[in-house]
Amino acid sequence: MEERPGRGRRPRWSAETLFAGPGETRAALRAKDWAATPLGPVEWWPTELRAAIRTVLPSRIPMLLWWGPQLVQIFNDAYTPVLGDKYPAAVGQPGAECWAEVWDVLGPPADRVFAGQGATYSENERLFLRRHGYLEETYWTSSYSPVGGEDGSVAGIFVATTDVTARVLGDRRLDTLRELGTLSVAGTDTADDACRAAVGLLARRRTDFPVVLAYLRTDLMTEGSDLGLVATAGVAEGSELARDRASGVTGMPEVWRAAQSGRAELVSALADRYPGTFRVDGPLGPAPVNQALVLPLRVSGRTQPVGVLVVGASPYRELDTAYQGFLHLVADRVSTALAYALAYAEGRHRAAALAEIDKVKTQFFSDASHELRTPLTLIAGPVEESLSDTRDPLPPPQRERLEIVRRSTARLRRLVDNILDVVRIESGRMQPHPQPTDLAVLTRGIAESFEFALHRAGLGFVVDAPALPRTAYVDRDMWEKIVVNLLSNALKYTLTGEVRLTLRDEDGQAVLAVTDTGVGIPPDEQPLLFERFHRVRGSDARSHEGAGIGLTLVNELTGLHRGTVGVRSQPGAGSTFTVRLPYGEPFGEAPPSTAGSGAPVASQGYVEESARWLPEVAPPPAGPVHPGAATVLVVEDNADLRTFLTTLLAPHWHVEVATDGQAALERLDSVRPDLVLTDVMMPRMDGFELLTALRGDPRTALVPVVMLSGRAGEESAVDGLASGADDYLVKPFSSVELLARVRANLELARLRNHESAWRTAVTGSLQEAFCIVDDSGAVIEVNDAFRHLVGADAGHLPARPPYPWWPQAQAEPAERRQAEEALRQILASHGGRARFPIRHADGHRIWVEALFSSVRDPDTGRRTYAGTLRDITDELLAADRQAALARLATRLAKAGDVTEVLSAGLGRAPAAVRRARGRRGLLRRQRPGGCAPGAG
Ligand code: ADP
Repeated sequence: MEERPGRGRRPRWSAETLFAGPGETRAALRAKDWAATPLGPVEWWPTELRAAIRTVLPSRIPMLLWWGPQLVQIFNDAYTPVLGDKYPAAVGQPGAECWAEVWDVLGPPADRVFAGQGATYSENERLFLRRHGYLEETYWTSSYSPVGGEDGSVAGIFVATTDVTARVLGDRRLDTLRELGTLSVAGTDTADDACRAAVGLLARRRTDFPVVLAYLRTDLMTEGSDLGLVATAGVAEGSELARDRASGVTGMPEVWRAAQSGRAELVSALADRYPGTFRVDGPLGPAPVNQALVLPLRVSGRTQPVGVLVVGASPYRELDTAYQGFLHLVADRVSTALAYALAYAEGRHRAAALAEIDKVKTQFFSDASHELRTPLTLIAGPVEESLSDTRDPLPPPQRERLEIVRRSTARLRRLVDNILDVVRIESGRMQPHPQPTDLAVLTRGIAESFEFALHRAGLGFVVDAPALPRTAYVDRDMWEKIVVNLLSNALKYTLTGEVRLTLRDEDGQAVLAVTDTGVGIPPDEQPLLFERFHRVRGSDARSHEGAGIGLTLVNELTGLHRGTVGVRSQPGAGSTFTVRLPYGEPFGEAPPSTAGSGAPVASQGYVEESARWLPEVAPPPAGPVHPGAATVLVVEDNADLRTFLTTLLAPHWHVEVATDGQAALERLDSVRPDLVLTDVMMPRMDGFELLTALRGDPRTALVPVVMLSGRAGEESAVDGLASGADDYLVKPFSSVELLARVRANLELARLRNHESAWRTAVTGSLQEAFCIVDDSGAVIEVNDAFRHLVGADAGHLPARPPYPWWPQAQAEPAERRQAEEALRQILASHGGRARFPIRHADGHRIWVEALFSSVRDPDTGRRTYAGTLRDITDELLAADRQAALARLATRLAKAGDVTEVLSAGLGRAPAAVRRARGRRGLLRRQRPGGCAPGAG
């Protein structure tokens, strides 16, 4: 050691010089009594140590130097915070003493470095350090590098170290949150399951979640119900809190409070409050968990939390804001998982309810259909008999009525049969009986029966069904129902253009396509078409009859043949329905063939019914109506019902018909109905739209409208009446009821017209100005004399104050006040008499005397005032003049000489003239005729 100071030589370094420089750590290093340490006095220190110190001290990276076999510590300023409260004792302290609690981890690598095995490196090493009064979970990345002594052996160790606790904890927390996030999408069945899964997940991360308790409301569908413990982790078995399970009580008041307030609470001193309940196995044996965060679990849409999560904090970490924030995020994630589970449960609940409703509906339809069949048969039989009775034939009007009954029963039967078919298919009771069939021949036969109806509707009809390469095994009745339903829909929903039916062999299947140029179907409705009872709202059609069952049947019947149905459609352009059917195999013994070729019979009813949707142009039958009878306009798209209504009304009134709302409006040019009787559901323009149009047209604004609808129930009646219909009848209605309603409404309208005509006549005949005023002062009706009094351009009615005939506020303020006051008085005292000035439209002033009386409407409690206004301008003038003359006469009589006579006359006369002028107004130019006597 050439630099070790020899006797008598003054050393060139000391603690003062070696540790010179700023900072608290250097000061501590200088102050240390190094002679008392294994390193001995600073003056003796070897060159290598001093060099190492000069490297360590200025560094900004936390650096520690262990020197000598005892690893005596020297470190820089940047390292001091790492030591916590181990500083300042750590200065010059042997490593094993300073890091006693972790020496089992730090010692061995240090020994290896000393033994000459080279440098070490460790990453993210966990150390439970006691440097802030408690055992703290920390993470470090460090390297130990040997520092050679003068003989080449290892004399010391450079320790460079980085505290990576924050990063490691951050990663771990993120990981927890990510895993909790997967719970929300895992589709846990119930909220309890979600809670248990969350607690299970947290329990596997004991370091951050040594203790967890999850509480949920015992009835999750009810706000504010009891809380029950659902899952726990880390709570000692048999402890008081573990007994909370689903009991609806909890021994921790903070849990209740958080459930009420929705705010988190920090709980401390847990070890004292619940001895032996919260503990965790730490690196140095069991450790008590002393603090916990009580976190409400909130789900959007609920005012109160649905549960509470209690998380005990790790005793090895301070429950600082970062830790608390993390626990809040955990609670949020658990809440999200709960929300999903709740939504899922609610969805399942709804689906079950819907399925139940569906079942009940089907059952109801099934029962109702069965019930309907018997009476329908009993109606159809005798009607059929009467119609075909040639021995005692029906007179034509009776025959016509019974024809309607026959057709309507047939229609109802088909509907009932369709419903029963669907119900039977659904319950598996309907099985196809496949027969070897030439499908092309059968299909052409069915199509043929539609030709007439389609042509009568003005539609083209193309049938392209060449022979198929194979025999098909199909249930012929079912195939017929499929084709017929598609064709009758095509006819119903196509107003112009053509219908095309093709049958082809494609990929070993028979493919039927029915294409139309009709109204088409909106894309969002297309997937729903084959659902039971689904109907597209508001689409144009030849008829609005239907129950939304036809396509369901097509779908089910095709399905029974292992085929598929599809639709392609463009609103406004048309639709194509395609049925793909496998040819099928011979199956057991086939019942005898009924329809191998030739025209089928089942479609007859459909064709006949379809024909009834086509407009009928025949005029209504002329009834024995007297010439002055009222005219009723019947608006109805169903031809049978139209004929029925016409037959019913024609003996009493003139009847005009229209097939829909639009047609009715077009008829208004030639027909003046006294009453309109209209269906609600109609193509092109429905009853409500027609009603609005009628009310908006002055020619028909007051014509009573009676609506007919198939929709039963209060609501539809309210709809109808609220939209301004005068009356509303729900189908089915009796003829007597219909006639009574039409008669009553015509009579009411007549009285209304009569009354208003009378009133107009009476008020018109009055000589005096007459007006009707409502309780707000608005003048709502006047007669001719009133218009005359105020001038023809008195404005439009109702006229509200300030009226155009009041004196002008600027030019004649006093008179204006008089007029306003008069109105106020009359309204306040519910009538009475008043004099006030008004202003004629040409500007001259008139004085009127008004006499008003009022009546109170017992329903609304509001008053209506009726009043007469009399022109008293001339009376007032005459009175003024009389008074002036009387005063003059008195003066003259008192005068003693000529001077007094003159002064009496000249002094008074101008005042009288002025007053008279005031009464008349300065602008008077001309008075309308009818002068009061004495004027002039
Ligand atoms: P509906 O008795 O109402 O006609 P469907 O089941 O036969 O019952 O049809 C269901 C709905 O599908 C109908 O209400 C109609 O809106 C629509 N639809 C069926 N066929 C057609 C078509 N060819 N063109 C346009 N819309 C159609």
